[in-house]
Amino acid sequence: MKYYSTNGKAPIADLQKAVVKGLAEDRGLYMPEEIKILPKVFFDNIQEMPFQQIAYNVASAFFGEDVDQDALQDIVYDTLSFDCPVVKVKENIYALELFHGPTLAFKDVGARFMARLLRYFTQSNQNAPSTQNNLINVLVATSGDTGSAVANGFLGVEGIHVYVLYPKGKVSPIQECQFTTLGKNITAIEVDGVFDDCQALVKSAFMDEELNAHMKLTSANSINVARFLPQAFYYFNAYARMKALGKADNFVMCVPSGNFGNICSALFGHAMGLPVKRFIAANNANDIVYKYLQSGKYEPKASVQTLANAMDVGDPSNFARIINLYSQNNKLTPEATHHRITNLISGATYSDDQIRETMRQCYAETGYILDPHGACGYQALVDGLQPGEIGVFCETAHPAKFKEKVDDILSIDVEIPDRLAAFMKGEKQSVPMTKNFEDFKKYLMKQ
Ligand SMILES: *Cc1c(COP(=O)(O)O)cnc(C)c1O
Repeated sequence: MKYYSTNGKAPIADLQKAVVKGLAEDRGLYMPEEIKILPKVFFDNIQEMPFQQIAYNVASAFFGEDVDQDALQDIVYDTLSFDCPVVKVKENIYALELFHGPTLAFKDVGARFMARLLRYFTQSNQNAPSTQNNLINVLVATSGDTGSAVANGFLGVEGIHVYVLYPKGKVSPIQECQFTTLGKNITAIEVDGVFDDCQALVKSAFMDEELNAHMKLTSANSINVARFLPQAFYYFNAYARMKALGKADNFVMCVPSGNFGNICSALFGHAMGLPVKRFIAANNANDIVYKYLQSGKYEPKASVQTLANAMDVGDPSNFARIINLYSQNNKLTPEATHHRITNLISGATYSDDQIRETMRQCYAETGYILDPHGACGYQALVDGLQPGEIGVFCETAHPAKFKEKVDDILSIDVEIPDRLAAFMKGEKQSVPMTKNFEDFKKYLMKQ
């Protein structure tokens, strides 16, 4: 499969290049040239298949031309060592729980898949001239969640070393121990600065010629095709589980969205034939896409801080992929594109007060504990479902991941799952770093 850039000015790339580079040369996002429609027999039998088998079929459509069949099967099965069940919350509303992975948030699947795919490519490239013994070094700046998903996704994967840069004192204790206690091939770099300083260090490193000659550097950014496409697995699985319940005929999928990678993968699924009737993108107060859906005008702005902070995005990067998909790579006018998009996708937006109210109401009425992100998805279904429709929303994080907020809002004491508690028992190890690039470079040159 070849990949083109949404900006249309970069050379066509193969999968390996798209995964290793992440972003195209023209700063556009890579898109697969073809989206394969899955055969009818797959959908006829999907309700009988386990998650891993469904995912392998979907992965073959995306990556089957570029990855050896057995290797791809291993990558998929190894990535999905946990389930993502559909749970009934109340009449006609179901939660697709995406939080059963190692860091209790849905980014685990993308991170784990990408780590294994990178490993596959580096293994099959052993004859290439080597720097640092063919080690691939992943640099990732984090304000909390991405660092934990990437670090855990890459943990123990041979041939790859991960450096997580995070702002000292500015991530929550639970988040910090999810990437500072791992050891092995994960190094946490504690930067005396803010998140933007971490981001700037990573960007400078990618542009520094001397450093790039010394070591192979790559990013594990969420716009990477190997991180975002595998999220489509979730939606085929949701459909299968709803079909098994006899509830898949008028199926509405609702995705709490920030950078719009997760919902974009669901829309790829739809383009592959997944019979979802329509989609709802649920936003917090960062309502840029909501406004686009209403008006056809896309006006990015600075993000505002909310309770659902993993969705605090003012210029969602994957929105460019959605536009590209429905404009048929810019063949359609903006009006026609907007029309196609709004035929399939509607939006919703919720303030922090509404999120709190939703969490309380849902808990009182059903006993289900929503996290602030899932709350946006749940409420969008409560407000938007039409008669005869069945709604499924993504519960994107375990409520214990936002324990302080959830405890406070619901006046409860959310139980911390064992694997999260285990992180908190580990010993913190980090490398102190200034925000000065020369210091960071000196450190990397010694590795
Ligand atoms: C990343 C994240 C989101 C937003 O997903 P996007 O793909 O960026 O739209 C929602 N909820 C949680 C818990 C997340 O970590």
